[in-house]
Formats: sequence, C-alpha cells, structure tokens
Amino acid sequence: MQNEKSNSAVAGAQSGNFIRNIVEQDVSNNKNDGQVHTRFPPEPNGYLHIGHAKSICLNFGLASDFSGLCNLRFDDTNPSKEDVEYVDSIQSNVKWLGFDWEDRLYYASDYFEKLYDYAVRLIKKGKAYVCSLSVDEIKKYRGSRTEPGQNSPYRDRSVEENLDLFERMRTGVFEDGDHVLRAKIDMASPNLNMRDPAIYRIKKDNHHRTGNKWCIYPMYDFTHCLSDSIEGITHSICTLEFEDHRPLYDWVLDELETPCHPQQIEFARLNISYTVLSKRKLLKLVEEGHVNGWDDPRMPTISGMRRRGFSASSIRNFCDRIGVGKREGTVDLALLEFSVREDLNNTSPRVMAVLKPVKVVIDNYPEGRSEELEGPYHPEDASMGFRKLPFSKTLYIEQDDFMEDPPKKFFRLSPGREVRLRYAYFITCTDVIKDESGNITEIHCTYDPATRGGDAPDGRKVKATMHWVSAEHAIKAEVRLYDRLFSELNPESSNDGDYTACLNPDSLKVLTDCYLEPSLAGAKPESRYQFERLGYFCVDSRDSKDDTPVFNRTVTLRDSWAKITKQKVLRQEQNVQKKKKKQDTISFK
Ligand code: ATP
Ligand code: MG
Repeated sequence: MQNEKSNSAVAGAQSGNFIRNIVEQDVSNNKNDGQVHTRFPPEPNGYLHIGHAKSICLNFGLASDFSGLCNLRFDDTNPSKEDVEYVDSIQSNVKWLGFDWEDRLYYASDYFEKLYDYAVRLIKKGKAYVCSLSVDEIKKYRGSRTEPGQNSPYRDRSVEENLDLFERMRTGVFEDGDHVLRAKIDMASPNLNMRDPAIYRIKKDNHHRTGNKWCIYPMYDFTHCLSDSIEGITHSICTLEFEDHRPLYDWVLDELETPCHPQQIEFARLNISYTVLSKRKLLKLVEEGHVNGWDDPRMPTISGMRRRGFSASSIRNFCDRIGVGKREGTVDLALLEFSVREDLNNTSPRVMAVLKPVKVVIDNYPEGRSEELEGPYHPEDASMGFRKLPFSKTLYIEQDDFMEDPPKKFFRLSPGREVRLRYAYFITCTDVIKDESGNITEIHCTYDPATRGGDAPDGRKVKATMHWVSAEHAIKAEVRLYDRLFSELNPESSNDGDYTACLNPDSLKVLTDCYLEPSLAGAKPESRYQFERLGYFCVDSRDSKDDTPVFNRTVTLRDSWAKITKQKVLRQEQNVQKKKKKQDTISFK
C-alpha cells in the first residue's frame, strides 16, 4: 500500500495489455498469495533510454496498480563495462520519471556469495561441470540450429574434480578463458541456449562494487532467475529476445531449491524511427564525439530528453499510448513529439522571443519613452497570471516576418502593410534601410496609439499578429534548435548497419543572437516555456548562465518535417490499439 501511494503519479495510467491481464488473473486466482512483485533490472553499462522508460513504466506501473512492489536491481555481472556513473544516472532517471523503489535497491553483485553456493549445489547434483575447452572450441561443439551439438570432453568430470576446479577458479589460480562452469543440460536440445550454457566465467577485472574480491562472474541467465527468486519476484518481465532463454530460466530454478519460481513474461521492445535504442550503440555516439555526452538533448536517453525539455509525464503518457504487445514494430518519432506537445501545451507559460532578429524603429514613438503592456502567461489558464511587456521605440522582430517584396499569400510585415504586434499596437511599415551589401538593417514603421493592447477601436482588421521584443529591454540569449539525430528512418538497417553514416548533419543549430522578453530574467534551469509561434523551449541545465542564458528547443509547435497531423497520430494510436487486441488474443491461445 505504501508503494501505491509513492507511485501515485502513475497509478491508473496503465491501460490494458496482455501482461496486465496475466497479472490480473494471477491475483484473482490468489497465485503468489495474490501478491505482485516486479523489478526493473538495468545493467549499469550506459544511460537509460526511452526503451527503458517503457519497461520502467510497465514494471512500476503494474506494481502500483495491483498494490504491489517493484524493486530496482542493478544487473552488474560484467565488471569491464559497468560504472558508478551509470548506477547514479539510472537511479536519478527512475526517480525523475516519478517512480520509487523505496528501500528496495539491489545489486546482483550482492548475491555473488549466494550464487556461488547455488553453483556448487548444481555441481554436487551432477548438473554442472567445469569445461576447459577454449571459447572457439565451445562454439564449434555447440552445433547450429540445424545440427545438434557434441558433448564436451570434460562433461563427465567427477563431482570432486569439478568442485576442486571451481574452487580454484574462484581463488584466482587460472587465467581468463582457461575454464568455464557449464550447466549440464542437453547438447542435442533444439534450443541452443540449453546446450550446456556457460554459467560462470573467469574475468580478472575490478568490479565497481566488489573490487577485486571476485575473479569469476556468473552469467546473465544464471544470475537473473536466481536474483528474481531471492527477491521474491512474482512476474519477471523482459523483452522478447529472452523468450528462448525462458527454458533455461525455468531449468535453473527447477534444479535448485530456491525461495520461489517467478514467471518470466516477454514483451516487444520499443523501437523508434530515426534513432537507435541500445546502450552499446549510444555509447559509440558518445565515445566517437558524434554527440556531446549521454545527456546531449538529441540523444534518446532519459537524461538527454530531460535536458531537452521533455516532462516526465509526457514520457509516461507516451509509454502508455504505445502499449505493450508481443510483436516488434517501430513507433513513429512523431508520436513521441505529439505526447510532449500535448503536455507542454497545457503546462508551459507563453512568452515572446525573437530568434533571428531584425530591428524595427517606430518613427512616431517618442524618443526615450517606454511603457509597460501586459500579456497572459496562458491563453486558457488565467491562474498562470500575467507578465509585463515593455514597449519602446526600437524593437526586434523575426527576419522571416518581413518581406520587402512579398508574394501574394504573405500577410506579415511588408512596405505599406499594417500588422499587429502581439499585446501591443498596430504598426505599418514605411521604409527599409539596407547596408552596402543589400542586407536589411532597419525597418521603419509608424504605430497607431489608439490600438494599444492590440485592437483597433474603429474595428479595422489586420491579417497577421507577430511576436516582438523591445530592443533595450530584451535579454540576449543563445538558442539551440534540434532536429532528429539520424536522417534514415531505420538507421540500423541502412549502410550495412553503420548507423553513424546516416547521422543528420543538421541535427543541431546554434543561434547566438536571440532576444527574449525580460520576464525570462532569472529563469531557472529546466524551466519550460512556449516561445509564441516558435515552439517549446527549456533552459539548458548545463550551459545556461544568468548573464548568457541558453535555451533548448524541445519541439516545434507543429510537426514541421513529417507533416503528421493530430488526426494522423490518433489514427496511428487506433491502429496500435487494434494490433494490441489482436496480440492479446494470440497470446491467450
Ligand atoms: P540495451 O541494448 O539498450 O543495453 P538491454 O536490454 O541490454 O538494452 P538492460 O539494462 O539489460 O538493457 O535493460 C533493463 C530492462 O529494460 C530489461 O528488462 C530490458 O528488457 C528493458 N529494455 C531495454 N531496452 C528496451 C526497449 N527498447 N524497449 C523496452 N524495454 C527495454
Ligand atoms: Mg544489456
């Protein structure tokens, strides 16, 4: 119950899916005394990405919905790839997403002693042996999908010899690769995972928690099921690639006397268009300098998305929207953007910022005067209040909002044309000043004092409303615009898998000459705004300084590149729902 409370941010957020149905049935049949206990088991070998968010929402969400518990467990059995930096970032990401493991933070490495004892028990039962074939030989003996494997010549070592060798593997007598401990199952099994899989290997590496205490490390398949059982997990949820490992998961637990036998259930991992989701592949982008670190706002990592301005609730909503099924597919990046837009539309204050400025001089506005106008922070939410907007003789508008020689359908500012400045006045362009190379340096206008606030008392209309800032009051800022990281829909299947060959060269644009309305002075890191007409932006948590603020564009106001309309996204969602229904029926056969 405690858990239900702490995870209430997401309680009820999970819509129906086949895993939820299984859990629901188990609870109603009083299986596991009606208890639900899940876990999220990341390997600390990189930062979490949006795919992990799907698993986090599923595991913590199920626990919360069924008044159960969810553990955070680091699956840290490969010392050479793991690091405390990753352990820390993972904890911070899970918390930020709104979930709480309370006092149930575990490490597989905490169980090394127990796991060693379990391995000894398997040896004593004649169900495990020390094999001294080389890695290549083991591969050769393993056979293939079409051919059975062959028994290792070491398969029939006596229990005593195995116990002695395993003990000496532990004490560091041997070198990496000299021996492995293997489960004795069936070299002719049609399932390759059952052909005497290795369960322990020698690895003389320093572990980030156990230091040099161990030089043998248990393999994933041996560690995972036993860790689940030690923690009393009821439903061990993992991605589809582990489906073929389930017989091994069950074999280990059946052979050993363990506290309980959790049920492994597999679901389809999340793939998203125009990106890669794998820590190993993301690490390569970081190491080769294609991005500026794991939290680069272009990265699909939770840290990157957070820094870019995604809210935790928009990520949770996205995860709920895509659902949980049994069939692999790729979700359109546009759906993720739709989720963040929907959330930020409700929660972000509106402000004005000019990203590519051009000067406007109001000729009939008195020199040296300024006045304060007012605009609401949100057009539909009065509780957000108002901000003051200083107006003066010299303003900035967007270069794109002016054309000297406009085509027919251009309704914004042009010579002789009257437009509205948001919450301010109607202005009319009277003149344009250029430098020697023909670039516009100043646009001259007149204003109509009677239109203060943005409406003409005589009822005359204008066809455009533009954003602006007062030049003398504006805050100068740097603004970073992001586009998708890859230019191919599926980077992994392009260029023979060399996904770095299709990185989008325009994924980052830095604008250093931007002007913000003064209400943004002192905006806190990570605070989010809608810059009117331009998109949703957030204060960069790493590089922004009080005197030189840096803003990241989270997302544009509309989907500018895929031209996916709200209807299209909704249709896509309906398709996901339909598919989910189909999958549920399949999985219950
Ligand atoms: P990666 O390839 O990114 O390293 P992984 O599966 O090796 O992924 P783990 O740290 O082992 O990463 O994952 C922790 C949990 O998150 C696992 O239960 C895993 O199944 C799940 N997970 C990982 N990637 C995805 C994904 N793309 N979609 C859904 N769940 C995922
Ligand atoms: Mg992994």
